[in-house]
Parts: sequence; structure tokens; C-alpha cells
Amino acid sequence: MTEIKNNEISDENSASENAFKNEGDIHSQDINSSNSDHSPDSEEPAGEESGASVFFTFEAAEDESEIPKKTGILKIFLELREIDEELADIEEEKGDLPSEIRTIRSKVERLSGSLSAEKERFTNLTDEKNSLEDENSSYEEKINKYDEQKFNVRSNTEYDEITKAIESLFVIVEKNEKKIKEIIKEIEGLNIDSHSRETDLTELSGELSEKEKQLNELNEQYLQDESALLEKRNDLISKLAPEFVTLYEKINGSYNGEATAIVRNGNCSGCYNSIPPQRVIEIKTAENIYTCQSCGRILISEELQSNG
Ligand SMILES: [Zn+2]
Repeated sequence: MTEIKNNEISDENSASENAFKNEGDIHSQDINSSNSDHSPDSEEPAGEESGASVFFTFEAAEDESEIPKKTGILKIFLELREIDEELADIEEEKGDLPSEIRTIRSKVERLSGSLSAEKERFTNLTDEKNSLEDENSSYEEKINKYDEQKFNVRSNTEYDEITKAIESLFVIVEKNEKKIKEIIKEIEGLNIDSHSRETDLTELSGELSEKEKQLNELNEQYLQDESALLEKRNDLISKLAPEFVTLYEKINGSYNGEATAIVRNGNCSGCYNSIPPQRVIEIKTAENIYTCQSCGRILISEELQSNG
């Protein structure tokens, strides 16, 4: 196996069997590259090619004395995955609450807006109705006065004028009464609308404060967990070479808490695609870091996981 021992070598590693120093150097490796080291559970000859037989190899500068070379890194990846899985679970626990709260809040705002518009309309209508009623009572008073005057007239002309005046006042009073009836009808409608809106608003406001309470509780509940996890995470990240951090974060970004997969019965535990036996052996020896050709997760042998 070709090994690269320091970070400076990166521009010249064009040969396919070369290992890579950083993300830019990722390329496929021929699985037929010989490996005479057969594990007891692998009876198949090395180099069996299949559709999913191209894998990526990553290597970083490591001390030659460290054997197997990538075990430490893989163990850190495993620990990171555990932390990221928990962090993802916390996010999932909060789930749709934030967006639900936003939706309800905008509904509440719309309802409150309608309600205050209705209240304003109600006030205006009531004022208009009151002034029409006042107007009518003053006209009725006038009509009564004119009625009395009718008995004291001195001429027919005067009588006719008073009668005319009474009639024109009656026209106005009737017009006002018609308007008052319309207003009363509209007020009744408004009351029904407002009542149902108030009921909706009360329900929604209750729902909103319940959800806000839940989210606050979750935030509070997880605040300590999250900061403890993040602290551990930073600690682990600091132990990794930058290229491995980049590799891990990129895959974790796609799989949110599932950057690694275990090789189980010759399959990737992430996507269940089969891994050629030769590669399974190589993953077990942990000399390199391999990612799954199908899903891109970092592959870790079952043995390393259970020993970890
Ligand atoms: Zn996979």
C-alpha cells in the first residue's frame, strides 16, 4: 500500500494508487489493487469487480508507527457521529414547532386586524345610529309643535305651510328610520362575525401560547445538552487534521448526523449497497479511510465499532 507521510505531497500524486492529502485529492481507487492479506471470513478472491466497485480513499499525514494507521481517526469519526446524531435528534424534537408558531402567529395577526376593523365599524355605525335617532327625536318634537300650531292658524295659507313643513319633516324622519334599520341589521351581522372571530382568536391564541411554551421548554431542556455536546464535538474536531474535518463535515452536512456507516455482512449500513470482499478487508485493516461509492458515507468496520 502506498503511504504518504507528510502534508506537503499533494501536487504530484497523480498515480491512481496514491493516497491523498486533502479533499481535492479524492479520487477513485482501483479495487483490483492487490492485497494478499485475506481475512478468515473472506473466501472470495480479491479484485472481484462489480458496479459499485469504485471507492474513494483518503489519507492524511500520519506517523508510520501508528498501526493500523487510520484507526484513531475512524474512532473519532464514530464519536462525532454519535454526537451529531444526538444533535440531529434534538433538532427533530423541536421539529415543526418553530414553523407552526410562525403560521399561527400570522393567523392571529390577521384575525386581530379584522376584529379591530370590525370594532371600528361598529363604533362608527353606533355613532351614526345615535345621531340619526337624536335627529329624529328633535324632528318629532318639531312635528308635535307644528301639530299644536295647526290649531292656532289664522289663514289657510299658514295651515298649508305648516302641513307642508310637517310632511317634509316626516319624509326625513322616515328616511332616517330606514337608515337606522339598515344600521341595526349591519350591527347585528358584525356582532355575529366578531363573535366567531373572537372565538377563533381565543382558540388560536391559546394554541399559540401552548406551542411557544413547548418550544421554550424544549430550548431550555436541551440548552445544556446541546452545549455539552457541542463542547465534546469541538474537542474531537480539534484532534482531527483539517482535511478530515472537511471530509467529515461535508458528509455530515448531507446526512445530518449519519456521516459514518458500518460495514455489516459486506454491506454499507447507510445505503445497504454491497461492498466487494476485498474492500471489506481493506476497511477492516483501516490503513486508509474509505467512503461508500453509493452513498458517500465514511465506512467503518464492524470490528472497529464494537472495539471502539
Ligand atoms: Zn453506502
